Amino acid sequence: MSKHVAIIGGGVVGMATAWFCQQQGHQVTVIDRKPSQRDGCSFGNAGMLVPSHVIPLAAPGMIAMGLKWMWNPESPFYIRPRASMDLVRWMWQFKKSCTQQHVQRSAPLLRDLHLRSRELYQQLQTELPDGFGLKTRGLLMLCKTAAGLDEEAKTAAKAESLGVPAQVLDAEATSKLDPNVQMDIRGSVFYPKDCHLSPNRLMRAIESELENNGCRFCWETESLGFTKSGGRIENVVTSAGEIDADEFVVCGGVWSTMLGHDLGVALPMQAGKGYSVTIDQPAELPELCSLLHEARVAVTPMGSSLRVGGTMEIAGIDQSISQSRVRGILQSVPKYFPAFKASDFEGQPVWSGLRPCSPDGLPYLGRTAKWSNLVVSTGHAMMGISLAMVSAEIVANLLSHQTPEIEGLRMLSPDRYAR
Ligand SMILES: Cc1cc2nc3c(=O)[nH]c(=O)nc-3n(C[C@H](O)[C@H](O)[C@H](O)COP(=O)(O)OP(=O)(O)OC[C@H]3O[C@@H](n4cnc5c(N)ncnc54)[C@H](O)[C@@H]3O)c2cc1C
Repeated sequence: MSKHVAIIGGGVVGMATAWFCQQQGHQVTVIDRKPSQRDGCSFGNAGMLVPSHVIPLAAPGMIAMGLKWMWNPESPFYIRPRASMDLVRWMWQFKKSCTQQHVQRSAPLLRDLHLRSRELYQQLQTELPDGFGLKTRGLLMLCKTAAGLDEEAKTAAKAESLGVPAQVLDAEATSKLDPNVQMDIRGSVFYPKDCHLSPNRLMRAIESELENNGCRFCWETESLGFTKSGGRIENVVTSAGEIDADEFVVCGGVWSTMLGHDLGVALPMQAGKGYSVTIDQPAELPELCSLLHEARVAVTPMGSSLRVGGTMEIAGIDQSISQSRVRGILQSVPKYFPAFKASDFEGQPVWSGLRPCSPDGLPYLGRTAKWSNLVVSTGHAMMGISLAMVSAEIVANLLSHQTPEIEGLRMLSPDRYAR
């Protein structure tokens, strides 16, 4: 049955959801407080699809790493201390989730979600006229040190045990995989199932196709709250008036916490700020995307451009740019790719985006007990591009009262922090 679906948030999660809902014959309205020419978290990111990422952000060792890096202004992970009860509560919940047991339970689910999403992206690439630069060549986790390679080899063994292929390589074997670039490394782990794409192209391509097929976009329209009656939402109240619908989907990224407040649905999240810089004429253009293990930096070729990005700064809803952390990212690149100089990136605009991070590192995805016509899809942290398509398929299935095929989705319940 065709329904009117109102989607709050036009980031990658909202746009992919709109795409699936439209494919299923629903009438779709997307509401976003930004204009169509926006450049939020879904645009300047590293564009990687990562079946290799079977370990959630909340994992053993993360607290120790955060404390170690606390005092280094160029470090890639940082929690800015501030007097906020939300932050204290989030950190407490994060700490509780940093267990081996949580990783064991989450890993098979994350694997299934990433692999299904990868399939859906491959399909989407054939359906959008100009595609979005999807490359299914794999990802290199580059390590400069023996200790780094040992650590990554353990993660690779974990991925392999779950059926995600991973190969531990020395420097020579790594360079054969991407002979066009010089690398100064000890070795790498190659994840052949990982992919990369251009997020800017993806976002524009979906939007244009949605528009051609009759999707209504309400740009520069802020969602302020909801009118409700008898366990159902009737309208979303916006800065441009009320919008009614049969179903409402919250895809508001890190701001979904605020949307949840009005609905009495607890969606604790902290913003995980990251930066990227894109250059059009790189000294060398790798064919594969890579993650620089010790520096925690992502390097992605996008057409003839190269994007480098990183840091996870838990510092509130604040998109200001910390030059020292950007310097940390840029200075790491020549250490792994000696043909580059940090000055190659000088004068380029620095982009910042806020990842929506739940305390257990898992998305909020599903219906809530409180409202019969509400679905939540947010909290994808550093995996929002990778998981957007599968999340959208799951939402569309829920709206059509079909049971999603992936097991373990109860772990993602938006009610899991209900008080
Ligand atoms: C440096 C960096 C690198 C990254 N690299 C990768 C990667 O390689 N692979 C990967 O999978 N992920 C990556 N990510 C993470 C990914 O970018 C995010 O997970 C993803 O973009 C989140 O998408 P979203 O749609 O949930 O949120 P957003 O993109 O933040 O979209 C939310 C939208 O909701 C709108 N909104 C919010 N509240 C309201 C309201 N009240 N009314 C109206 N509109 C509202 C906002 O304006 C916004 O447009 C990276 C992130 C960063 C910062």
